[in-house]
Amino acid sequence: MIQPDEVRAIAKKNENFKFRTFLKCHADEDELDEQFLRLHKELFAGYDCSKCRNCCKMYKGSIPAEDIDRDAKYLGLTSEKFIANYLEKEEYGINYQTKHKPCDFLQEDGSCKLGDCKPDGCKKYPYTDQPERLSSLLNMLDTVEICPVAFEIFERLKKEYGFRTRSRR
Ligand code: SF4
Ligand code: SF4
Repeated sequence: MIQPDEVRAIAKKNENFKFRTFLKCHADEDELDEQFLRLHKELFAGYDCSKCRNCCKMYKGSIPAEDIDRDAKYLGLTSEKFIANYLEKEEYGINYQTKHKPCDFLQEDGSCKLGDCKPDGCKKYPYTDQPERLSSLLNMLDTVEICPVAFEIFERLKKEYGFRTRSRR
């Protein structure tokens, strides 16, 4: 597996964009979901995310407004204090983001200060086991430049589809 600090430099932006177009033209929606899910299970099974945490380092944490009271309680704070200590409003909409990047809830050992109260979006990242991969491929292009496992899934899919060979014809 590629090292977390190498993924952005090694991900091939142009090739990945072409592969996204290739999948849009050639992949079956359900089959692609199955392929993503199979590779997700295989590759995350042996991977220790606490040694990576690129997803917490390269984005600000995004906290839904409906999580605020629960998260504040988890940290033993009032909702007002929780917001004042850690958060600012996102530019658009009603949700919040952390004041800093890396996310303010990322701890030294790679764990999340919010524990099981971490946002649903963080729990689902990098979304490679979620349905409707074919319609989410544009988002995947960013993800494969951040997440080593998503990067590897994309590279394996290129092989399974014979993408490099077929795209040279
Ligand atoms: S989900 Fe991906 S980016 Fe986040 S810690 Fe795990 S391997 Fe790294
Ligand atoms: S809330 Fe937790 S899991 Fe989500 S980005 Fe911040 S540290 Fe990572």
